[in-house]
Amino acid sequence: MNGEILGHSVQQKALARLAASGKLPTTILFSGIAGVGKFLVAKRLAFSLLCREGAFGGCGHCEYCSLLHAETHPDFFSVQCASKECDIDSLRELLYSLNLKSFFGKNRVVIFNNADELGVQSANLLLKSLEEPRPNTYYILVATHRGSLPPTLVSRCQVWFFDRLADSAVKTLLAGKEAAIQAAGLSLSEVVALADGSLAQVDTLIEKSELWKKLGSTLDQIAAGKVSLAPDLAAELAKDKEHLSESLKLLRLVVRSRMLSATNDEDKARWAICLSNLLTCERAIFERNLAAATVLLSTFLALHSAPQAVSFTTLHNSARLLDNVIV
Ligand SMILES: [Zn+2]
Repeated sequence: MNGEILGHSVQQKALARLAASGKLPTTILFSGIAGVGKFLVAKRLAFSLLCREGAFGGCGHCEYCSLLHAETHPDFFSVQCASKECDIDSLRELLYSLNLKSFFGKNRVVIFNNADELGVQSANLLLKSLEEPRPNTYYILVATHRGSLPPTLVSRCQVWFFDRLADSAVKTLLAGKEAAIQAAGLSLSEVVALADGSLAQVDTLIEKSELWKKLGSTLDQIAAGKVSLAPDLAAELAKDKEHLSESLKLLRLVVRSRMLSATNDEDKARWAICLSNLLTCERAIFERNLAAATVLLSTFLALHSAPQAVSFTTLHNSARLLDNVIV
């Protein structure tokens, strides 16, 4: 796995040093927002541990690297925790197979991507396995929502944090998508600004450019006082249940961009409160099963109220909120 991964140079250098010196802990958790390259760094680390030369990311030409590139290395496992391959029986089988000696008698690496999607039962099974370390077996857990993992599991891991990517890195990574961006009626700098250091939403943004433009212009009008548009917008979004989660993420991006580009404190606070309300909305809809049209309507109507007026959550004062908002 040759080639640089943009960003995270501090983490990559430190991991390379630890892997080369044999001091790397056997259980590691990579934590950070989606779309910043955590899984790619995990793969680079895995390749370093399995390459004959021990080169960070793999030397690319030894027999082990060839197997890694062909995805046939018998001592490398990459598990997508959100998929069926990680049901409890498959996981049990995989963990049991780790009791046997590694195929080449050297290191063995298991990456659990989206580890925060492991069910409780699977997480507990994995925890049990981590409590009985096996020689030369490394576990790399990759997670966006570290808080969703059982604390007992997290406490077994050395946690590495991954920040957002710099805009310059996002720009470089978007090379090759210029045509799609242009076709969507967007500019590269607009997408870089909206991406906000992560590639997670970029494709949605490009594919759904019509929708987010419409959301932006409708929300602008509601904020300016045309509240009669709010019920229709809420109803329209709520109707498409299948894509509701995606639409709400897009809505957050729109609101966040308005917050960042607001030119006065009052507008900044207005959009910041709206952003906070949207997060509450998502929990209300997906965790408490409340009617999406109703909670969205409350949020849209609150957008027109003065920022100091009662918001949907009534929890935050705007200054604190601006310091703490995480999307
Ligand atoms: Zn190699």
